[in-house]
Amino acid sequence: MDTEFAELLRDRNLKATPKRLELLSVVAKYNSAIPYSELQKSLHHFDRVTLYRTLNALLDGGIVHKASVSNEEVYYAMCKHYCSSEGHHHKHVHLKCKECLEVSCVEAKNTIVIDIPNVEIDNVEIEVQGTCSKCL
Ligand SMILES: [Zn+2]
Ligand SMILES: [Zn+2]
Ligand SMILES: [Zn+2]
Repeated sequence: MDTEFAELLRDRNLKATPKRLELLSVVAKYNSAIPYSELQKSLHHFDRVTLYRTLNALLDGGIVHKASVSNEEVYYAMCKHYCSSEGHHHKHVHLKCKECLEVSCVEAKNTIVIDIPNVEIDNVEIEVQGTCSKCL
């Protein structure tokens, strides 16, 4: 597990520090997108600045992304291979389940194409509300 994450970091020209590896394993182990408060709980031995810096390095590196922005709570999830330090290129949507309140990354069956005249779009964030497959 650790070597996999170490490779992920080195691929993005990031040093595989113990703190980054630990944060990554917490995000990856969580079965859905992890709320920030859970991250804080799991990594209570990180001080606030360390957690912020470690998280930001992974966000900039295209390894982790924010999975929900419209809630009071911010959620984080692992990125796929198509993200890099050059940018995030997500083609999935974020499903917020109204039953279990979990936020998860889900692939939509149809491709999402959004065109805005005279704008170069890097990334589209779509949040979907509904009931997840576990709660149906
Ligand atoms: Zn990403
Ligand atoms: Zn659910
Ligand atoms: Zn996602």
